[in-house]
Amino acid sequence: MSTLGAVAATGGMRFSIDPWDPSYGTSVADDGFKESTAKIEAGVEEAPSAWRPVPLPAARGRLVAAPDAVLFVDGVRREDARGWIDDLAPADTRATSAAPAVCASFASGVVCSCALGAHLLTARVERGLFTPARHAGDITTLAGTYRVRPVTDDGPNGLNLAIQQAMTTLEISIAAGARHGHATVPGADGQVWPGPDGVAGSAPDDSFADGPAWPSDAEAQPVPGDPFAAGPTGPWPRQRLAEHPTDQPGGAAPDRSALLIVDGPLRGRTHMPRTLGFIKTHHSRYLEPPQHEVVGRLQPGERTPVFMMGTNWDRFTWYLRLPSRPGAPWAGVARIECPASLPAADAIGLADLSQVVLPRFASHEFKDGRAPQNLYPIAGLERALRRRLGDRQLMYRSLRRAAGGAIG
Ligand SMILES: [Zn+2]
Repeated sequence: MSTLGAVAATGGMRFSIDPWDPSYGTSVADDGFKESTAKIEAGVEEAPSAWRPVPLPAARGRLVAAPDAVLFVDGVRREDARGWIDDLAPADTRATSAAPAVCASFASGVVCSCALGAHLLTARVERGLFTPARHAGDITTLAGTYRVRPVTDDGPNGLNLAIQQAMTTLEISIAAGARHGHATVPGADGQVWPGPDGVAGSAPDDSFADGPAWPSDAEAQPVPGDPFAAGPTGPWPRQRLAEHPTDQPGGAAPDRSALLIVDGPLRGRTHMPRTLGFIKTHHSRYLEPPQHEVVGRLQPGERTPVFMMGTNWDRFTWYLRLPSRPGAPWAGVARIECPASLPAADAIGLADLSQVVLPRFASHEFKDGRAPQNLYPIAGLERALRRRLGDRQLMYRSLRRAAGGAIG
């Protein structure tokens, strides 16, 4: 392959880019569950025969300590181009076969809602060349480098799954770092954010300025206006680190440490402390009819008893109805997950906490077609991340140019 001079610069491979327009900024909000063969243990909190809607903790005489901060983790991904990696061929001949390849950009970030308002804690963009071609190398373009990501699953959905996996991996690492860095590292102070490809110093997003006050002892009130609306809405929070809430579990005091909300299932992330998976779409009916029917009877803020669900992994889970207008039986219903490794009492405590915390972040119907389940910090985070992916047309043209150079 060394005879293909122009190819050497791109890692010793030939590749081409399809004139195809991939969709823009796909989010990873899909919960991924298609089948209903899950094993259900409905008697974690209540005997199945005793299932009924669980009122707000205060109505049950339970005190729930609001966390100092709620961190929301999410990721977005985008296919910048599809193409082909030519199989290796003898010098001066054209390959007669090729492997599919996808050039994708993806980003993950964390937004924090605390006494300082809502602010972006961290965001990171990566780009990858996903392909089963073993001889593939990085593609360097003027707009960024697509690092090769070997794909072993050559099934029809293998590339897609690999991109999703890469993004989940990025989310896990960024979430762990954010929890640690919430109070301690430079860059958590709202002034220096990594830009595209990790270059620091790009302008902060206006969309996170002036978030809702947190914590608030008032009843869950509709937040006036969308604090994440695009456009300059106010000064970026420039808190001092010393003023920022710490993230220390406090001895015998109630645990007010940050609660982490992951958009989507917890799969692969069950080792993270104080973390909930938030699933806003429902593809399967998991519960037997008598328990399933309880979901439809939930009032806003109410939840089902905690139950255990096992697919190829286990978790505690419950349904929660967010504030919403009366509508379809499942309008405003989200499913929340926490790790199966927790004691059941802790899982029930997190379920109570979710009733207090999550309704505050429900989006409003007139702002968001997916309201109320599309929690507005997550919606704002996705917008901020998509901006960081960079201009897709620019990335696409850069890839075409790089491919043209390689092929000569
Ligand atoms: Zn904060």
